[in-house]
Amino acid sequence: MAQQVDVLIVGAGLTGLLAAKTLVERGVRPMLLEKGRTVGGRMGTRSIDGGLADHGAQFFTVRDPQFRAMIDRWTKEGLVFEWSRGWSDGSLSVSRDGNPRYAIHGGMNSLARYLALGLDARLNVKLAAARQVGNAWEVEDTNGSRQRARALLLTPPIPQSLELLHEGGVTLPEKPRDALTAIDYEPCLTGLFHVEGETALPHPGAIQRPHAPIYWIADNQRKGISPGVRLITMQAGPSYSRQLYDRADDDILKSFRVDLQPFVSQDGRIVSAYLKRWRYSQPLTTYPESCLVIEEPVPLAFAGDAFGSPGVEGAVLSGMAAGGAVATLLGK
Ligand SMILES: Cc1cc2nc3c(=O)[nH]c(=O)nc-3n(C[C@H](O)[C@H](O)[C@H](O)COP(=O)(O)OP(=O)(O)OC[C@H]3O[C@@H](n4cnc5c(N)ncnc54)[C@H](O)[C@@H]3O)c2cc1C
Repeated sequence: MAQQVDVLIVGAGLTGLLAAKTLVERGVRPMLLEKGRTVGGRMGTRSIDGGLADHGAQFFTVRDPQFRAMIDRWTKEGLVFEWSRGWSDGSLSVSRDGNPRYAIHGGMNSLARYLALGLDARLNVKLAAARQVGNAWEVEDTNGSRQRARALLLTPPIPQSLELLHEGGVTLPEKPRDALTAIDYEPCLTGLFHVEGETALPHPGAIQRPHAPIYWIADNQRKGISPGVRLITMQAGPSYSRQLYDRADDDILKSFRVDLQPFVSQDGRIVSAYLKRWRYSQPLTTYPESCLVIEEPVPLAFAGDAFGSPGVEGAVLSGMAAGGAVATLLGK
């Protein structure tokens, strides 16, 4: 089988996209394989009734100087904006800790689409197995199509990456295998509601209640990404998500509505409601390094928000680190 590219990257979320960009900059040819209809993964923005709602990551913070430089550049380019410096817990006061929370104009997914420009990203390709064949890695999708390359970079949540290797009959060395199997994620149930009328969410149109069953409620219209339509994003905390996860959609949405109702004005009404189940929303534990690379016999790298730091920043930094490490292994 001819190798069209040097590196196969599974997943076109932020990690995969940043890894691909880094590889291209180093003169390596990557191909992204993504099961979704669009790039972005957990940077998800959904279009509902003519409006937009972020239903995965809601905002992000910046700590790392390299990421800071990227955010400054993207802010100048009109991609990133500062949304807030803190959230209300539902009372009228907003706790401002001075730490900027950023979001993306046009919805969080716009960042992923921007990063994907010029990259070889194949969408609607769900991989079923990854195996080593001679001195190459081969991946096979659910239609039986295969691709080969000199290196493989896995960016899905770790249990999904391990499943691909398991299906391909790959046995990892004991140390990395133990480290990877210890990584788990919390689930997150997300409700999206189209509301006609005003909402009484305090400035800037979002509340964060770390100890409540529904810990996050945000108005995407006031966020600025859905000018014509008021779409509300509600996210359940980990234990409430686990408790409700297997219930019927209608049951789950009913319990979300109870929490939303106090914030909908008297003449307002809920027009439509949608549910998204995130099985792997955020890692419970992280691997201490920005990526995990197994050099021999054929380069294999694991990256994502479970490496180094979590969240959007962690995914970006992990993608760059993994792309750089694989480029070095390929002599670039
Ligand atoms: C509900 C929710 C709220 C969040 N809130 C925040 C927040 O406010 N702030 C913050 O910083 N972070 C937040 N996060 C986390 C943040 O979204 C992630 O850390 C980040 O987007 C992870 O990017 P990634 O590329 O590592 O993973 P992903 O975005 O998950 O990318 C992995 C990709 O792999 C693809 N894939 C998986 N299996 C296969 C397969 N077999 N074949 C092909 N493709 C496959 C997936 O479709 C996906 O696109 C939130 C996440 C969720 C779900």
